[in-house]
Amino acid sequence: MTARVIDGKAMAQSLRAGYAERTAALTERGVRPGLAVVLVGDDEASKVYVRHKALACEQAGMHSEVHNLPATTTQAGLLEFVERLNADARIHGILVQLPLPKHLDSLAVIESISPDKDVDGFHYRNIGALVIGQRGFLPCTPWGVMQMLAREKIPTQGAHAVVVGRSTIVGKPMALLLLAAGATVTICHSKTRDLGAMTRQADILVAAVGKARMIDGTMIKPGAVVIDVGINRMPDGKLAGDVDYDSAARVAGAITPVPGGVGPMTIAMLLANTLDSAERTAQAREPAA
Ligand code: NDP
Repeated sequence: MTARVIDGKAMAQSLRAGYAERTAALTERGVRPGLAVVLVGDDEASKVYVRHKALACEQAGMHSEVHNLPATTTQAGLLEFVERLNADARIHGILVQLPLPKHLDSLAVIESISPDKDVDGFHYRNIGALVIGQRGFLPCTPWGVMQMLAREKIPTQGAHAVVVGRSTIVGKPMALLLLAAGATVTICHSKTRDLGAMTRQADILVAAVGKARMIDGTMIKPGAVVIDVGINRMPDGKLAGDVDYDSAARVAGAITPVPGGVGPMTIAMLLANTLDSAERTAQAREPAA
């Protein structure tokens, strides 16, 4: 068997074409959607991610600001900076690129972002909304995965989904979204005994670990859908996922590549959240019909 490739890049491109139209319509209504990205320090991988996000915004016609702050930025200085963006009417989405330098308290910084501009969906108000099934900003990566499953018409109702990884930004919200979509969800992590026995039960397997190629074909149920969230930089400079693509593709029914899978969809969802935020601003400004 050779798995069907789920092309996240193509999917994201078609979504982004629609976002350009929405941006144009909002701009016409006097609200040009704007995203501010804050990068503290010189982390090379973060710089690449930030560049991609800013470029995607510009290509959709959105206003985009990238603020490169020095690694020596203090906690108070960063909180003050976020506060200014919270109050800036041109900005509908604020993203502070993680990880932050060690001397900064990431949690406090994330909580300082107005939940109405928290387009990463990391503020506890948005995470809380996800837990209780209320409307809020969904975290971009897991939401992007759900969009991929929906667009590929992969049924989630009653499916057994296994999520490997329990981080606050990927694993946990991923599990919650799959649960909300009717899946039976197992969450695995570094303390899980016999990981392969768990992953082999998955109809839908999501790998979000950060360890290159650690899930191979022997750990996958024949015909399963394999979603590889991992992004790992290899010694030769190339990117690899958490899934050993070649052996997995011989067993799985469908699989996402790295690069070109979940990554582009994550960026697309960031734009979608920023547009939703701008849409709310436009609606609030307009007199009720
Ligand atoms: P974290 O390091 O925060 O979490 C990793 C998770 O993997 C933890 O829950 C950890 O368990 C678990 N884990 C570690 N080792 C093992 C193991 N041997 N067996 C089972 N579970 C294990 O990473 P993130 O969630 O932030 O990111 C995961 C990956 O996804 C990374 O490669 C990251 O670069 C990528 N990523 C990709 C995005 C995209 O757009 N495609 C966006 C965000 C992240 P424990 O909790 O017990 O320590």
